[in-house]
Amino acid sequence: MTTSTTFLGLGAMGSALAAAALDAGRPTVVWNRTPRRAPALGERGATVAGSVEEAVAGDGVIVACLLDHRSVQGVLDPVAGNLSGRTVINLTTTTPNESRELAAWAAERGITFLDGAILAVPEMIGGAGSVIFYSGSATAFEQHSALLDRWGESTYLGPDAGMASLYDMAMLTGMYTMFAGFMHGAAMVGTAGVPATEFAERQAAFLAAMTGGLAGLAAVIDAKDYTGKGQQSLRFTETALAALMRASSDAGVDAKVLKPVHDIVRRQIAGGSATRAPPAFSRN
Ligand code: NDP
Repeated sequence: MTTSTTFLGLGAMGSALAAAALDAGRPTVVWNRTPRRAPALGERGATVAGSVEEAVAGDGVIVACLLDHRSVQGVLDPVAGNLSGRTVINLTTTTPNESRELAAWAAERGITFLDGAILAVPEMIGGAGSVIFYSGSATAFEQHSALLDRWGESTYLGPDAGMASLYDMAMLTGMYTMFAGFMHGAAMVGTAGVPATEFAERQAAFLAAMTGGLAGLAAVIDAKDYTGKGQQSLRFTETALAALMRASSDAGVDAKVLKPVHDIVRRQIAGGSATRAPPAFSRN
């Protein structure tokens, strides 16, 4: 008999994860704080648990996909006594330290812990382009690979439970700042009546081409060679950013997205750097 997989949290993402398990024909138990979300999965064959205690009563793997770190603690802590010897896979977004805290909490209670960070939206789960990073228990990653692979491409990043989150947060930093830049650009051309949809098409192609430069930048960071061979100078970058800020302000668009980048470059120049100097982004 195959043991059931328990899903705690049936928001947009938790429901997508549980649905993928059901689609794979896995016995599935689902629980949600408010009952409204569970019936749809019940109709698809899941066993709907009326409480967390009931949901974790079996001996299968437990998947938590809740709002945040606090809700994971709030849901798991009261039933910790039933979880010794079990495996918890946490797919809730947490910071690296929060993931490590959960891993320590689990270790103290004899619970095997695997943390996951989802780089996909619910509609992508189980389809092309869905990527999930994992860290923590290698045994859990291997043992449950069939389940994990149903959701997307599974990548294991090592035993430090915070690593998946660290990687996720680093990836999302690139995404959010890119989106902020796009919004700013759309506002600029919008002042001349250009529809954002038209701008988006051109911006997407340009950004895709620009990502070709990431590998070169990465090589500079890894080699710690900031002498600027083959790189644009900081003066060039400062001049470009100053022009962008003037153009924004001339168009009546607040340059607050650009200012922090401009400030970093100016500080580096004031500190004596003539070339691109990634250490400005580190704390040391
Ligand atoms: P939703 O807002 O759709 O769902 C949140 C879930 O958390 C609901 O099941 C909600 O229950 C539950 N919840 C909130 N607070 C508590 C609490 N105190 N105790 C118990 N349950 C609680 O979010 P998603 O499903 O989209 O996201 C879930 C996790 O997945 C988040 O950490 C998110 O960052 C992550 N994620 C989501 C992505 C996305 O695109 N949606 C992408 C990548 C990661 P109730 O229904 O009762 O309110």
